Amino acid sequence: MSPSGAEFIRKIRSQVEEVDPSVVQEHLGNGMVLVDVRESEEWDAGHIPGAKHVPRGYLESRIEGAVKDRDTRVVLYCASGQRSALAANTLREQLGYENVASMNGGITLWKDRGYEVEVPKSLTKEQRERYSRHILVPEIGLEGQTKLLEAKVLLLGAGGLGSPTALYLAAAGVGTLGIVDDDEVDLSNLQRQVIHTTDRIGVAKVDSAEESVKAINPDVNVVKYKTRLDASNIMEIIEGYDVIVDGVDNFPTRYLLNDATVRLQIPVVSASILGFDGQLSVFKPYDGPCYRCLYPVPPPAELAPSCGANGVLGVLPGTMGLLQATEVIKLVVGVGEPLVGRLLLYEALGATFTELKVRRDPECPVCSRPPEDISDDEMGVFPDYEAFCAAAG
Ligand SMILES: [Zn+2]
Repeated sequence: MSPSGAEFIRKIRSQVEEVDPSVVQEHLGNGMVLVDVRESEEWDAGHIPGAKHVPRGYLESRIEGAVKDRDTRVVLYCASGQRSALAANTLREQLGYENVASMNGGITLWKDRGYEVEVPKSLTKEQRERYSRHILVPEIGLEGQTKLLEAKVLLLGAGGLGSPTALYLAAAGVGTLGIVDDDEVDLSNLQRQVIHTTDRIGVAKVDSAEESVKAINPDVNVVKYKTRLDASNIMEIIEGYDVIVDGVDNFPTRYLLNDATVRLQIPVVSASILGFDGQLSVFKPYDGPCYRCLYPVPPPAELAPSCGANGVLGVLPGTMGLLQATEVIKLVVGVGEPLVGRLLLYEALGATFTELKVRRDPECPVCSRPPEDISDDEMGVFPDYEAFCAAAG
């Protein structure tokens, strides 16, 4: 005769290691991964701070995303300790996790003990509808959307790369978008700078971009900087932003930006385009290489796009700008593998993507030292650029 459900659960629970909430509370953050196996609505109503969310129904398909190493100490919890015991059994018996336990009494007992519970900020009814397709993606969910709404992202340039990035980040609900650009909309921009329109020729790009962003999503707070980024203003402008999107088209500013962001430890999603070719990487200070690790000296002047007007396929900045927007969302939400230590090359004519590994340079003049050691005088040191361009002929 088959055992009853209650007997089955009792048998499983006798085989699974169960730990008391006090033990979990003591070891939280000490190499132990705490996983909440409840449903999304339960998670949204409040969960243990620092826990990862893997609903039991998705355990097999998503546990590796939350806990890569099978030797890691994993403690599962649910509402009462029953679902987590069953899930712990599955992890151990079927998925090869060796050091798994279930928290006794679940979050109910945890709360009774007076331990901390984190309740995600709630969205308005309109926001729930606007972002419903994000909320449905398990890797984003309500929590990820809340992070996006709280995020501050700075776009350097409202041009070819900045246009699509700004439009999609606005649509995605990034709460604050800073835009740095000192230029006005020109007829020759409209072939690719899709945030601007024909009737806004002559208008400041920051104002034109703001108008488009607001029309898409009034939730977004736009902060405008109608200026050029230079050594005198960079620290003031970039401080406080979570991620910087670099669409800058000249090398001196790239070096300056690199040095300032390493010092302030702000990740930069950097892209460049020329003709049919695009490049993309994420420079996350002290986690991966910085721009100077990659380019200790400027590339040959004839390859420097800012040495004059160059042609570019109009849709290419769209492709690269949206790859940038994707990396921004991953960094803000904290999902996936950002392009840290990797350089992605896109060649549109052949329709090929190539990836190069890039490493931190232990001798790097900037990121080999602690951030507080990088002085104002050293930032953005670069050879005379006009001479540099002139040398290219
Ligand atoms: Zn470096």
